[in-house]
Amino acid sequence: MLESYWKQCLVHLESELPLTQFNTWVRPLQAEVTRGGLRLLAPNEYVRDQVDEHYREQIRDTLKRVGGGHACQVTVMVGTTAPPETGSGVPNADRTNNDADRVRVVGLRPKFQFSNFIEGKSNQLAFAASLQVAENPGSYNPLLIYGGVGLGKTHLIHAIGNVIMNRPGTSVAYLPTMEFVADVVSSIRHNRMEGFNRRYRSFDALLVDDIQFFAGKSKSQEEFFHMFDALLQRDHQIVLTCDRYPREVDGLPERLTSRFESGVSYGIEPPDLETRAAILVSKAAESSVTLPEDIALYLADRLKSNVRDLEGALRRVIMGASLHGRPITIDYCREVLQDIFSIQDRLIKIENIQKTVADYFQLRVSDLTSLRRTRSIVRPRQIAMAIARELTSRSFPEIAAAFNRQDHTTVLYACRKVKELRKADSNIETDYRNLMRSMRK
Ligand code: ADP
Ligand code: MG
Repeated sequence: MLESYWKQCLVHLESELPLTQFNTWVRPLQAEVTRGGLRLLAPNEYVRDQVDEHYREQIRDTLKRVGGGHACQVTVMVGTTAPPETGSGVPNADRTNNDADRVRVVGLRPKFQFSNFIEGKSNQLAFAASLQVAENPGSYNPLLIYGGVGLGKTHLIHAIGNVIMNRPGTSVAYLPTMEFVADVVSSIRHNRMEGFNRRYRSFDALLVDDIQFFAGKSKSQEEFFHMFDALLQRDHQIVLTCDRYPREVDGLPERLTSRFESGVSYGIEPPDLETRAAILVSKAAESSVTLPEDIALYLADRLKSNVRDLEGALRRVIMGASLHGRPITIDYCREVLQDIFSIQDRLIKIENIQKTVADYFQLRVSDLTSLRRTRSIVRPRQIAMAIARELTSRSFPEIAAAFNRQDHTTVLYACRKVKELRKADSNIETDYRNLMRSMRK
């Protein structure tokens, strides 16, 4: 009885909740009837907590409604019901006897594993969902991971494949979107679309990286759309990555993006300082180098763009040090990475500094660039000048001009003054540090 109530409840919830919420939090739940009521099994702790906090009451009320007013107890915990007896976990309708001839694994890079992926706040949800899909293919389908360049999307999608490929009899392919596009083009030219379709549709799990490259390629979109549907219909796992939320990609039709987003989607943000440092320590260890924590933190603090650049910088430090027989110290890093640091610093604009400082002191930017000499404005203005000097490679006259000053000695004086004040007044020191930190984010 309760089971059928649950099914009806799902229908109601699907129409009542925003689709992404329903797909993310409610769809992955499995229900189990207990003596006291209904137990909802969530694939992981995040889902459990979200459901418990935001949806449990609504679920209980809906159950009560469909159950003709009978209240039942609803609990949420992490778990799954018994797996299907095939044991493979990936339902596979068309597994045939010539399985042995089938190509089982395509394109996976063994170096990208869950074990060497550093988890942090910025990637927690994407990480948890990836792990879930790797261990339970089909549980979130399709899984979409999106986020900026160098943040670990490709790493995660391979990690998923590297786990799935260990399931006996399960085939998995890693497919960069550009390869798919090239394949469509050449299959059309050689009149081989049929083989093309058969090939891709045979995989139990298909991992498609960088779907933003489908933008504007309508023939490939078309083919992918059909393949996508065919795979989903048979419950084959699909994992997609995109460099932003698909709907934000120009040249991807809504028909496609809404399909991509129809399962669960998680974004990856740039990692915070500690996570960046942990990634560095882990990457150094992969090259058999023990990177001291203070140096990892120093590098992580100076290099903020993305993990790929961070890794590139680390490689330079490690290779340089071994080539020149130098120990890895902060001074050595500064020396080797000087050019990277200076490019990065130039990216910080004086206008951003003015805006940040004005916000911090609850002033307007026009106050900072005005000629007014009120004390409450003079200090923040001097601090902004000093930060501009420290974080950009602008000259004194350039900084002066950005503050509407003719005379560059104003900036010189401000820098000296702020230096003194930071020593003498701990409040100013704190303000300065807070501002530096938020500028470098
Ligand atoms: P994306 O595909 O998002 O552009 P990649 O997956 O290619 O980024 O990541 C770039 C590099 O950074 C890879 O070498 C990857 O191993 C590394 N990387 C990114 N995030 C992490 C992380 N959280 N832990 C460990 N390595 C990471
Ligand atoms: Mg990538």
